[in-house]
Amino acid sequence: MSEKLKSQLTFIKDLLAKKSRNSLSIKLIVAIGTLVLIGSSIFWYMIIIRGERDFLNTAIHKTSVCTELMQHSLNVNMLKGQTNVIQNILESISVSENIVNINIYRHPDGVITFSARKDNLKKQIDNNSVSCKLCHESGTKDVKDRTVSKKWIILQGKNSRVLKFALPIVKEKTCTTSLCHFHDDQKGIIGILEADYTLADIDRTLRKQKIATLTFGIIFTFLCCVVLCVILWKIIIKPLNLLAEGMEKVSKGDLDHKIEIKTKDEMGMLAKTFNSMTKELKMARERLENWAKELEEEVQRKTEEIRKGQEQMIHTEKLASLGRMAAGVAHELNSPLTGIVTFAHLMLQRIPPENKMDREDLEVIIEQAERCSKIIKGLLGFSRALPAEKSDININDTIRHVLDMIQNQAKFHNIKIITDLAPDLPTIKGDASQLEQVYMNLLINAADAMNDRGEIKIATRTVKEDGKEYVEIEFTDTGPGIPEEYMNRLFEPFFTTKPVGKGTGLGLSVSHGIVRKHGGHIRVKSKVGEGTSFFIRLPVNR
Ligand code: ADP
Repeated sequence: MSEKLKSQLTFIKDLLAKKSRNSLSIKLIVAIGTLVLIGSSIFWYMIIIRGERDFLNTAIHKTSVCTELMQHSLNVNMLKGQTNVIQNILESISVSENIVNINIYRHPDGVITFSARKDNLKKQIDNNSVSCKLCHESGTKDVKDRTVSKKWIILQGKNSRVLKFALPIVKEKTCTTSLCHFHDDQKGIIGILEADYTLADIDRTLRKQKIATLTFGIIFTFLCCVVLCVILWKIIIKPLNLLAEGMEKVSKGDLDHKIEIKTKDEMGMLAKTFNSMTKELKMARERLENWAKELEEEVQRKTEEIRKGQEQMIHTEKLASLGRMAAGVAHELNSPLTGIVTFAHLMLQRIPPENKMDREDLEVIIEQAERCSKIIKGLLGFSRALPAEKSDININDTIRHVLDMIQNQAKFHNIKIITDLAPDLPTIKGDASQLEQVYMNLLINAADAMNDRGEIKIATRTVKEDGKEYVEIEFTDTGPGIPEEYMNRLFEPFFTTKPVGKGTGLGLSVSHGIVRKHGGHIRVKSKVGEGTSFFIRLPVNR
């Protein structure tokens, strides 16, 4: 079965399944079917009626000609007075299967003088008989219509219809001159020739024709309906169904759905408009979704920034309180330690050189006390306030100064230092010696991490952050990197991974404090196995 036929059958099934009286398709089909039925019924009725009339007219014409011929031949014999011949002629003509009977009446008394059926002879017909009524008003002598010379009527016979044909026999001149004189006293019509023809053949033919016409009419109407339905289905109902289905899908959110109507008529235009509308809708929805996504991302970004800012604040606050506490402790310890070192030195001077043991003990006391002093100095540096007078400084100059200082130190002999200092770097307001201390801390940490062997890159540049201009200084080394778990603790005072006696854990915390007091910040980026980068940002002095 072809796809087309299948879809049409499915459509009809759907229609039947729905049983929807409100369905447009049902309404249209019923309306068109009724119209076709009424129109074709009228058409075929007219055809049948016209055919029947034509047939009857032909039959009447033929019988009229036949009756006239008969009259003519009988006339001749009447004039000759050959009544026997007339009777014989009538009997022999009535043998024809189309002739039911032939009578000749005498006018006006209605006595049958000649008849194809002998038993009718001499009988007198009634004034009210059909034969009389053909010409006269019922039971009177009044003639209905004198202009009509031949009269006929169709009657229902025993087995079929009968066409009764009456022809008046008019008295002529020859009637008096011929051998027969007994009509002398009469005028006008002297007799009636009446012939009954059976219409059985015609009726049979008409019946067959009616059946054929009806059959043809029904088939034609049915085919018309089918063709109309198919056309209707194809050009209206199917596109409408597709449109309805499309609208339903789109209303449920399926904006990718496209209505496939390829015709160029109104339905095609409607589908095209609908498809472009759906496309527009889809684009609008995508735009909205994108906006929503962007908004969501922006909110997430801002939330993350706020969270980081809060963390940073807490961290800074923690460092500040630790700094205050450390400064307090350092301040309290500084004086007794200075006393210890001073008095230890005095005692050392008093002990004779031969008392080696005491001298050695005192030297240990001095060494340890000086170490404590160093730590305390670091703590004091961590909390130290900036000097009241800040000056405009060029970061590149401070870096070059530090590099000059370290170039003779053995620690940096096997370390390659690469500089990438941006020319025309704007100045910043700050304390050069404090910043140099920060660089020193970072360089010593990098050298320590690389075991005094490797590469350090120092770069400066101008960057923008939150609309503000900063000078950024980058220190990147090729050391082992910092494990993730240490990253959050780097700037805490006393956090160190270095062995006891080597690290104090104050370098980064002190550096952090100095940078913060310059209005900047310090960040670290590190990957284990690849190296570490410290980024210091200081606000540009405009
Ligand atoms: P200290 O140097 O006395 O340990 P710091 O505060 O300067 O104290 O450093 C803290 C810790 O940070 C160090 O012990 C070290 O583990 C880590 N660190 C600092 N800089 C680096 C670096 N460039 N590479 C690897 N680790 C580093």
